[in-house]
Amino acid sequence: MDAHATRRLKQRLESLADAGVTSLPKVGRRAAVTAAQPSAEQAAPHTTSAEAPPADDRVRALAILRQQVSDCTRCAELAATRTQTVFGAGNPAARLCFLGEAPGADEDASGEPFVGRAGQLLTKIIEACTLTRDEVFILNVLKCRPPGNRTPDPAEVANCRPFFARQFEVIAPEFICCLGTTAAHALLGTTEPIGRLRRRWFTYGSAQVICTYHPSYLLRNPAAKKDVWEDMKMLMERMGIRL
Ligand code: URA
Repeated sequence: MDAHATRRLKQRLESLADAGVTSLPKVGRRAAVTAAQPSAEQAAPHTTSAEAPPADDRVRALAILRQQVSDCTRCAELAATRTQTVFGAGNPAARLCFLGEAPGADEDASGEPFVGRAGQLLTKIIEACTLTRDEVFILNVLKCRPPGNRTPDPAEVANCRPFFARQFEVIAPEFICCLGTTAAHALLGTTEPIGRLRRRWFTYGSAQVICTYHPSYLLRNPAAKKDVWEDMKMLMERMGIRL
């Protein structure tokens, strides 16, 4: 292996370790080296099934909704303090959506979800699952940054619910992964602690829902990365994505 390939492999393994990946399948020397790359049968885009609306319709519907979100002033404090709304990003026909809590400072500044430190960790987790951010759809319960990154209050979640509900209606994902307590409680209408919601399947409309810890929590508690990786393996297995 040349120096460039060695460096790339080292970076890849470091990224997987950062994402909480604890082991790679033991499938022979060559396969182990490429284990995190999509195999031929996984290489097809991870998009939704044929019954779902055509991608063009979804793009149009999401563009209309994006405009409605950016015009929204339902939460007076958030509308007054935000730089911009953060609609969400990714594949409008994604099989899998990740639902976070609310934009932070970096997302408020850029208009993109999960781009700060927690977002970079989420990207590593997605890539460890052999997916890319462009294949999934990433959105938040709230579309505006709460000042000081405080936890969204129930009235704010209620105001934003029609927006994320419509996003899920349009995208029609087969799977939703709730990142943390706010997302899980908002989507599932439960108050159970996130630790008790993990490792179980729920439904939201026709989507199968799994809950895991928020990447910000992992930044504060790296020991929990292995738990998130267990959750991701459970999700990938049900999605038919071989890791
Ligand atoms: N945390 C979230 O929940 N969402 C983001 O977009 C960024 C950080």
